[in-house]
Amino acid sequence: MIRENLARIHEQIATAAKTAGRDPAEIRLVAVSKTKPVEMLVEALSCGQHLFGENYIHEVQQKRPALPASAKIHFIGHLQSNKAKFAAELCDMVETVDSVKLARKLNNRLDAVGRTLEILVQVNIGDDPAKSGVPAAETERLLAEIRPLDHLQVKGLMTIPPLENSAEESRRYFAGLRRLGDELLTKGIFTEPPLLSMGMSGDFAVAIAEGATIVRVGTAIFGSRG
Ligand SMILES: *Cc1c(COP(=O)(O)O)cnc(C)c1O
Repeated sequence: MIRENLARIHEQIATAAKTAGRDPAEIRLVAVSKTKPVEMLVEALSCGQHLFGENYIHEVQQKRPALPASAKIHFIGHLQSNKAKFAAELCDMVETVDSVKLARKLNNRLDAVGRTLEILVQVNIGDDPAKSGVPAAETERLLAEIRPLDHLQVKGLMTIPPLENSAEESRRYFAGLRRLGDELLTKGIFTEPPLLSMGMSGDFAVAIAEGATIVRVGTAIFGSRG
C-alpha cells in the first residue's frame, strides 16, 4: 500500500509542478508518520522515501534509534521549550520555530552538543487565533532576533492554513506565505529563495501551484490515523 501511495503522490507532485511550470525536483516530500509504527517508516524507506515528519517528541525518541542514518526527520509539531533539547539532538530540521525563546533553547542545546540545525519559521498566515505561528507582520522581526543564533540555519517559512478550509480556500494562505517569502527575499532578509513548507494530503497540489518547495503528506501515504 505504501509503495503504491508514494508512487501516486510523486505522480501528483510532478503533474502539479509541471502545470505550474516548475521543476518537480525542487519539491521535497515529507512523509508525515506521526502515530504510525516504525515498521511503516522502514517500509517507506525501502521504497526510497527517506524524509519523515513527526509531531511528538516522544515518538521521535522511540523511532530515531530504530531508523538508519539515511532517514531524516523534520519536526512539524508544536514544540514546547522544555522539549527543545530533544529536537535539537534528534531532528534534521525543525519546521515550527515561532518564538525567539524556542530558537534560543534550540541554539543553546546545539551549542552544547556541537551541532547545527536547519529550521523554518512557522507563520500564522491566516492570523488564526487557534493556530501557532508568528503573525506575518512579526516574521521579519523574529528572523532578525534569530539571526545571531549561530547554530541555527533559517532555510525558510512554514504554514498550516485554518483546517476547516477546502483546498481551494487554502490557496490564498499559500499565496500569502509565498508573497511573504518573496518580500523577505527582496529586502535581503533571506539571501536565497526561502523554502516554503505548505500543503498536506488534501491540498498539496494547490500548495505546489502557489510555490511550495516542501509538502507534508501523511494520510495519503500511511492511511488515516486512529
Ligand atoms: C499531521 C500533519 C500533516 C499531515 O496531514 P495529512 O492530512 O495526514 O496529510 C502535515 N503537516 C502538519 C503540521 C501536521 O500536523
